[in-house]
Amino acid sequence: SRAFNFCAGPAALPEPVLAQAQADLMDWQGKGLSVMEMSHRSDEFVSIAQRAERTLRELMGISDDYAVLFMQGGASTQFATIPLNLLGGHDCADYVNTGIWSKKAIAEAKRYTRVNVVASTEADNFTRCPDQSELKLNPEAGYVHYTPNETIGGLEYDYIPDVGDVPLVADLSSTILSRPQDINRFGLIYAGAQKNIGPAGLTLVLVRRDLMGRTRPELPTMMDYSVADKHDSMYNTPPTFAWYLAGLVFDWVQQQGGVQAMGELNRRKAERLYGAIDSSDFYGNPIQPRFRSWMNVPFTLADERLNSAFLAGAEERGLLSLQGHRSVGGMRASIYNAMPEAGVEALVAYMETFEKEKA
Ligand code: PLP
Repeated sequence: SRAFNFCAGPAALPEPVLAQAQADLMDWQGKGLSVMEMSHRSDEFVSIAQRAERTLRELMGISDDYAVLFMQGGASTQFATIPLNLLGGHDCADYVNTGIWSKKAIAEAKRYTRVNVVASTEADNFTRCPDQSELKLNPEAGYVHYTPNETIGGLEYDYIPDVGDVPLVADLSSTILSRPQDINRFGLIYAGAQKNIGPAGLTLVLVRRDLMGRTRPELPTMMDYSVADKHDSMYNTPPTFAWYLAGLVFDWVQQQGGVQAMGELNRRKAERLYGAIDSSDFYGNPIQPRFRSWMNVPFTLADERLNSAFLAGAEERGLLSLQGHRSVGGMRASIYNAMPEAGVEALVAYMETFEKEKA
């Protein structure tokens, strides 16, 4: 009876995770209370928290060189947190502009430092990511920031930029855990939870320990990575229920075969959907095939006047939240880890039927 939810975030969660959360809701493991009601300092919650971190470390291959922080404020808070934590004595940072989320990160960083936009694909309407050779990097920059997956535009890098000795910072909000990634290439990774991790309210930060201590004096304590690390992400009351649910999601990813299996599944889903779009003149996607996102698939109808009919028909069939972002219009199907292949098949079948009816 559950719908297929294509929302970009908060996004669908795996059904077994929701079932486990439901079973635990009133009485977690016979303790007579919900995780929501537990002290974050209790042995029970600390064991939940530590287990989540352990599983994530296993899944992503995160060594002890990195701190894993469970923070708050969403990825948007990280746009400000990163410069204040990482600039130290540097007077500039490099940013790559590939769309709306890159721009938001750039705008916030400009409040604190000189920003070098070292590549931008705006002239191409953000239909591609830059190639490595286009990145005009500055060796004196405090760090290089980029957005591996632009959730709104639907474009995703198929490589990790080589930035030499300057720390590479990545907004992995919409692509974390979707495929294997070499964590050691990054100085810092951050991600809002509400796509591939769990409920909104939790923000994951992985930071190389040698980068801590480069803080600016005006950095709020709550945003200081070294403070969060020292207090095991419990300097204040953390979002305990979201943390617990994230742990259940990490267990689920592991049971599916880890990020390798997720990558294979996500590749199949993306190929199926882009294949359907490309095989018809009725639907379109403007992104260069090499840079098409596996997670967020924007598409347009050749006749925009049919948009509302398309969305209404989809909803009737339990295919939800297909409307594109308000800034770009059209459609967008977000097909994160928790979207089963059956959901993509149902969408493709509906697209074919709709086209036959209206073309
Ligand atoms: N960065 C990316 C790539 C996103 O997709 C989003 C949200 O959709 C954000 C940042 C902002 O995240 P939050 O709402 O957690 O601040």
